[in-house]
Amino acid sequence: MIGKAGEILRAGGLVAFPTETVYGLGGDALNAQSSQKIYAAKGRPSDNPLIVHIYRMEDLAPIVREIPQKAEALAKAFWPGPLTMIFEKSERVPLTTTGGLTTVAVRMPSDAIAAAMIKAAGGYVAAPSANTSGRPSPTVAKYVEEDLSGKIEMILDGGQVCIGLESTIVDLTVDPPMILRPGAITKEMLSEVVGEVSVDQTILRSDSGQAPKAPGMKYRHYAPKGDLTIIEGDRGKVCARIEALSKEAMERGLKVGIIGTDETVGNYHATSVKSAGNRADESTIAKELYRILREFDDEGMDVMYSESFDDGGIGAAIMNRLLKAAGHHIERL
Ligand code: AMP
Ligand code: MG
Repeated sequence: MIGKAGEILRAGGLVAFPTETVYGLGGDALNAQSSQKIYAAKGRPSDNPLIVHIYRMEDLAPIVREIPQKAEALAKAFWPGPLTMIFEKSERVPLTTTGGLTTVAVRMPSDAIAAAMIKAAGGYVAAPSANTSGRPSPTVAKYVEEDLSGKIEMILDGGQVCIGLESTIVDLTVDPPMILRPGAITKEMLSEVVGEVSVDQTILRSDSGQAPKAPGMKYRHYAPKGDLTIIEGDRGKVCARIEALSKEAMERGLKVGIIGTDETVGNYHATSVKSAGNRADESTIAKELYRILREFDDEGMDVMYSESFDDGGIGAAIMNRLLKAAGHHIERL
């Protein structure tokens, strides 16, 4: 299977594959036509750059202008893993792959299937998430098939992904390094290695109205078809408010979905109540969030209510995606 995937990629075709974050839609990163095919298959705006995936450190130097010392330190600490770094690009990377930018995003995934496939493809695989643009990223192969079947040559099925949210993106062309998208490698983890780390203000909780530095973050993304609202505040009050909103919407004949947690789902009544996971271990919530959003679509939910999550650790990434899915509809109690 890996050998065949490698052949397809070398010939300019597209292969979806598992990574530890979400499923990726891969094409040869150094082939402009392959990148074009990726944008077309996803319906992705062509100014939204792709991440170049490598499988070994020595393949980084040829595609970037320089490797800052802090990038070297971060690679040593977190590669292979869910960290994407932005560099000035070299001539070898086509502008189509970088959405017209002179910088390039690079990641080395830890997933064994991904690593083997990148190697078989010749070392450089451009891959955004393997979903139709605007939909939640796929965490199992079934959702890749739903979105992209017939539009790509092959899907490698590696079961459910481990993390469930896209990689942390850090810009290393500025100093201090700047987080452009939160993920499983948290600000705290990055700071431990390189000291001060800044955060692109546009990705924080309030809708700043400014253009984010990662072009992709400006698009509506991760969005379910129905209306999602996040309720935030004292836990007990949140539960009561969600329950009241659900009751009222159901009385109006709407189909209502609720995203709770293991600790709270027993208290809710709605058309569909789902636990995102356990508050004691927020990585469980990261892993299930996109599946839940997709299931609510399949179940035809008109409105959805979700509890909010804490900003520490991976909670920052969970809230970032949830806020985007909700179009920043949040009720603070
Ligand atoms: P996806 O792989 O679907 O998660 O999308 C890749 C994300 O990386 C998008 O949000 C892009 O805007 C972002 N990205 C890729 N390349 C760059 C770059 N050179 N500079 C800033 N952001 C980038
Ligand atoms: Mg994506």
